[in-house]
Amino acid sequence: MIRLAVALGIAFVFFAGCAAVEPVLQDVGVRGAELTDAPGLAAAVADVWTGYSRTDTPPRVLLVTGPDLTCTDPSSRNPGFAVLLASGPACREGYTLLPFAVSVAYHGQPWSQSALAHELEHVALIRNGQGTPLGDPGHATAGFQLGGAVDQANARLSVEGL
Ligand SMILES: [Zn+2]
Repeated sequence: MIRLAVALGIAFVFFAGCAAVEPVLQDVGVRGAELTDAPGLAAAVADVWTGYSRTDTPPRVLLVTGPDLTCTDPSSRNPGFAVLLASGPACREGYTLLPFAVSVAYHGQPWSQSALAHELEHVALIRNGQGTPLGDPGHATAGFQLGGAVDQANARLSVEGL
């Protein structure tokens, strides 16, 4: 499954706008570009986020595409990218480290078949101060269970053709 790591020290420095931190974030798996013109992305983000009953601004969605999809997520068998987890290097199709940005592998698939809803759930938990550790990297909370909020969000996206 997609994992999440929280490094508040990195987050703090990133908030401070230190350009030297960006390579560090990429090293651990925060990567991709903000491709706001990706088909259906804005609608999908809005749908998922409001479906989670959020009224705050959703995180930036960084899409990892093309040659940056360098590996295969062993759980989903979908194209993914390199991340650094607490357990070591891994390949994932989504990654959330920070409360204001997520990385999602994108190779033209519908958003309902991407990690978008999954990563937005991590962010919602982080912002709510929920999960042990924060953000629930082990996917123990209700939203990640079969038929939970993430599955429901993806089902909505699918119905809407997103
Ligand atoms: Zn996850």
